[in-house]
Amino acid sequence: MIILKKITLLKAVISRQRVAHNTIGFIPTMGALHEGHLALVKKALEKCHFVIASIYVNPAQFNNQEDFKKYPITLEEDILKLIRTGCHAVFLPHTNELYPNGIENLAHYPLGFIESILEGEHRPGHFQGVCNVVDRLLQAVKPDYLFLGEKDAQQCKVITKMLALTNQMIPVEIVPTKRANSGLALSSRNKRLSDIGLTKAAALYRSLLFVKKNLIYGDNSRLLEVAKAELIQAGFDSVDYIAIAKEEDLSDATNWNGKDPVYILGAAYIEGVRLIDNTHFVS
Ligand code: AMP
Repeated sequence: MIILKKITLLKAVISRQRVAHNTIGFIPTMGALHEGHLALVKKALEKCHFVIASIYVNPAQFNNQEDFKKYPITLEEDILKLIRTGCHAVFLPHTNELYPNGIENLAHYPLGFIESILEGEHRPGHFQGVCNVVDRLLQAVKPDYLFLGEKDAQQCKVITKMLALTNQMIPVEIVPTKRANSGLALSSRNKRLSDIGLTKAAALYRSLLFVKKNLIYGDNSRLLEVAKAELIQAGFDSVDYIAIAKEEDLSDATNWNGKDPVYILGAAYIEGVRLIDNTHFVS
């Protein structure tokens, strides 16, 4: 596997692939890799000749400095996992490389409504930071396909919008969420949980399944309140949201019309760690 730190070298490697008419698949990550990330790499290997992942903990997308400082970093293990999975290259940029003018005064993407709801509401500025880093990475890699995880369903929508706003015609492949046997969605942040916390954290997915199972035509606000209360009962410290949203644009579907496909999404804190998850429902 080729390890790249400089954009100039990255571009040289990519252009050799282009000359050979190889298709390029790209997987942006923040590292502390797990089977969820590797599922994206595997999907990319099925679809593309040359697969490149990036590992970069993007300071511009953290609205909470404590969360940034505590973000797990396991670079050597990550590189081994990528090699074993068959990834062809990994890009490990330094901040100076991606943000030569620093992380202040970044580009602003007119994302509209999608960045003011759910994650956007609870993490102001987060999606602008995500768009800035992904846009910069894409400018460097210029892949044929971009691979994203459905675990971050809203991020998938935001990045798709950013691609449209910046006229980048890159198809996005969305890969289903990988879970532990308990149902807990794999996440780098799970590494910060104690064994007890990990067991309790599975309640987040259970609560989403509970909403899915009991979803009714009409007003589901009472159901959402019960699901939130159950999360607290199960040991979560606080709940940012449990929501029902239209699959199409993530607009609120608490008042469900009985036919629109929806996501049921949740974000909650346990042991000071913020976890998110979602499940999809088609009637
Ligand atoms: P992150 O390193 O958390 O920024 O995630 C990098 C990519 O991996 C994103 O597209 C995520 O949606 C995806 N991802 C994270 N966790 C999972 C998971 N459990 N299953 C599938 N994809 C995931």
